[in-house]
Amino acid sequence: MLRGAYGPYRANNDLLYYHLDIRVDPEKQLISGKNTIRFRMLKDGTRIQLDLRETLQIDKILYGATPLKYERDTSAVFVDFPQTLRAGQVYSIDFYYSGHPEETGRFGGMTFKKDPAGRIWINTACEGTGASMWWPNKDQWRDEVENMDISVAIPNGLVDVSNGKFVGKADLGDGYTRWDWHVHYPINNYDVSLNIGSYVHFSDQLGDQQLDFYVLPEDLEKAKIQFAQARGMLEAYQHYFGEYPFVKDGYKLIEAPYLGMEHQSAVTYGNLFKNGYLGRDWTGVGISLRFDFIIIHESGHEWFGNSITAADPSDMWIHEGWTTYLESLYVEYRWGKDDAIKYVNSYKPKVKNLRPIVVERGVNAEPNQDQYFKGTLMINTLRSVVNDDAKWWALLHDFYQHFKYQNIMTEDVVAYFNQHTGMNLTPIFNQYLRHTQIPRLELLFGEAPGLVMYKWRADEDNFDLPVRVGTPGQWQIIHPTTQWQWMKTPLTKEQFQVATDLYYVDVNKQ
Ligand SMILES: [Zn+2]
Repeated sequence: MLRGAYGPYRANNDLLYYHLDIRVDPEKQLISGKNTIRFRMLKDGTRIQLDLRETLQIDKILYGATPLKYERDTSAVFVDFPQTLRAGQVYSIDFYYSGHPEETGRFGGMTFKKDPAGRIWINTACEGTGASMWWPNKDQWRDEVENMDISVAIPNGLVDVSNGKFVGKADLGDGYTRWDWHVHYPINNYDVSLNIGSYVHFSDQLGDQQLDFYVLPEDLEKAKIQFAQARGMLEAYQHYFGEYPFVKDGYKLIEAPYLGMEHQSAVTYGNLFKNGYLGRDWTGVGISLRFDFIIIHESGHEWFGNSITAADPSDMWIHEGWTTYLESLYVEYRWGKDDAIKYVNSYKPKVKNLRPIVVERGVNAEPNQDQYFKGTLMINTLRSVVNDDAKWWALLHDFYQHFKYQNIMTEDVVAYFNQHTGMNLTPIFNQYLRHTQIPRLELLFGEAPGLVMYKWRADEDNFDLPVRVGTPGQWQIIHPTTQWQWMKTPLTKEQFQVATDLYYVDVNKQ
């Protein structure tokens, strides 16, 4: 609850800046250093809440030269100031810590590994687990710093690749070298990352944008071939949404010992330099093997997840539903609409429909996997409701541009779509995101010859989704509601079809 809630000691301040300045000792598997945290008070107060996992030690917290008192409660750290901090004023503290981060979570959190050649390989990936498992910060999604510095001291000869623009490196004279990176944009905590290893670097260029790649030496030749896809990925996404969001930080792909993660401007990659998902056609319709899933998916998060971020993990479909939809946009840009629709629909078998997508807020709860596939199928359904591709592309572009660099909730998405389509799409969003079942079109034949009755069965009382029915190629749009209506048709029950590739709906013919 302390982790998930945006409690009073989080809400009383607004993050401005972090300088994470640490030393990583690979031999002792030890991390130590400080995070300088600058924030503006929004209300008068004497206490703020930060976070650091209990496995790590707090060495001291300084306000100027004054040591501050603090209280730890599980992974929350309540920091107390001797005088009242005033609303509107900016304050800065230095939070010193050290310890052995534990390996935990889906991606390992922070891992001290060896690469296949037996060299040091240290990486972080902590989405879900939370960044406070390896560094002190305000560990939540709503508030982000405006920019950040990352300084990482590591033994000479190793390379650290973190987020942002490489500023330089300095030999510290004690066998360690400090690598400095500057992030010019807001960044969510879980995106901040270390990648320490024997990396070699190469680059590519798209217009003015340099693309930087860091891989293990023995993978260089494979990577030069595989990572050429990054350019095409950027071209496709820029076509639909506008400029790459982190131009000043650059775009980077970094080899890592896990499948991949959307670390902002420093996407990590572990997809074996093969197309598909670990070399597999994971959607099973012959399209996935045309591209590298991790390059296309994780980089899509630069637009949805990193630039536009959900303000609570409960609404994480804004990251995953949209980014999965971006995969289909990449397919459409490269191979056309028919393949894109086929690709979107290939996700249907992965949808479980066991629980709603949007989960409880304020408790650090994460939605289930339906947020990816059902989220995408919902967006594809909305395209058919808008029923005008030129309008649809403008809507997507403007929606992204409107919310870029912001932290938003589902309500913001729905309000934007309603306002800019002039339609009431709320019942559609609600049905797919806040209920378990998808809408079912009830079709009743045989009451009278040449006639079909129709209505939606849905949880939303006002559910209303125009849908194409009849014969493929000569579809007719009807406007079913949750009340029975009827239409004339020359088609029999067997002949009468519904465009279920364009709308994610069930159909029940009787
Ligand atoms: Zn994703």
